[in-house]
Amino acid sequence: MDTPEPADGLAVTDRTRLRRHDREGSHERADLYEVLDAGFVCHLGLQTPDGPMVLPTSYGRHGDRLYLHGSVASRSLRAALDRVPMCVTVTHVDGVVVARSVFEHALNYRSAIIYGTPGVLTEPEDKRAGMHAIAEQIAPGQWGYAREPSDEELAVTTVLVLPLEEASVKVRTGPPLDGGGPDADRPVWAGEIPLRTVRLEPRPDPSLRGQVPLPPHLAGPGVAGGAPPWTPTG
Ligand SMILES: Cc1cc2nc3c(=O)[nH]c(=O)nc-3n(C[C@H](O)[C@H](O)[C@H](O)COP(=O)(O)OP(=O)(O)OC[C@H]3O[C@@H](n4cnc5c(N)ncnc54)[C@H](O)[C@@H]3O)c2cc1C
Repeated sequence: MDTPEPADGLAVTDRTRLRRHDREGSHERADLYEVLDAGFVCHLGLQTPDGPMVLPTSYGRHGDRLYLHGSVASRSLRAALDRVPMCVTVTHVDGVVVARSVFEHALNYRSAIIYGTPGVLTEPEDKRAGMHAIAEQIAPGQWGYAREPSDEELAVTTVLVLPLEEASVKVRTGPPLDGGGPDADRPVWAGEIPLRTVRLEPRPDPSLRGQVPLPPHLAGPGVAGGAPPWTPTG
């Protein structure tokens, strides 16, 4: 399969066309990749026989594919075997925006919504590639360091692959919107309280045998989730 260049745009469909605040939106593939690569937790939404369900889960992006995995016992992932349409969202909250009026309070964020019908991987090598993408997204460097999944472990794991074709990105940055309005003269503090997800110092498992040094690729601390502010390219 050809891997589209990040500069390629995403198809704008009726459901991914941004209607409200479209200036904050993008259908550029590079922007989508930037949002996806800054995180590793998504929300997977689907219709189940019991009604709508939204499941927080981890993911990995490789090229123009998003991988999701879980136990073969997982109800939501089992539903995928029937090739049901799904919606995946990824959200980074970058700041709380406080305004002079409660109405203008907001959040600064980067978010992505992806629509599609995931494929279910059955070949061990394909499943391994999916698990590689997810492991590397969560803890880069671990794939070549920790033991790889065995065939038995692959057999009890469902791995889904979602093509990154129908998707949109939305980003909000900056101060509240009432700085130029009638509330601007109020003696009320307004601005942004930035938020970051941060990797702290790793804590060793007390059951570690002997002197196992912390590998450099796991050493912290650092900011997880990219380094905003960042504005979409298109
Ligand atoms: C952390 C966070 C908090 C938010 N809080 C609020 C809130 O309190 N109130 C509120 O009204 N809105 C909030 N939003 C924005 C919200 O996600 C929607 O963008 C907005 O409500 C418009 O919804 P809509 O259905 O009218 O969008 P439409 O423009 O009609 O949506 C059309 C298409 O645009 C795309 N799209 C819409 N929103 C997003 C998005 N956020 N990310 C990527 N693609 C998108 C989708 O493909 C969607 O199918 C928040 C967003 C985030 C990330």
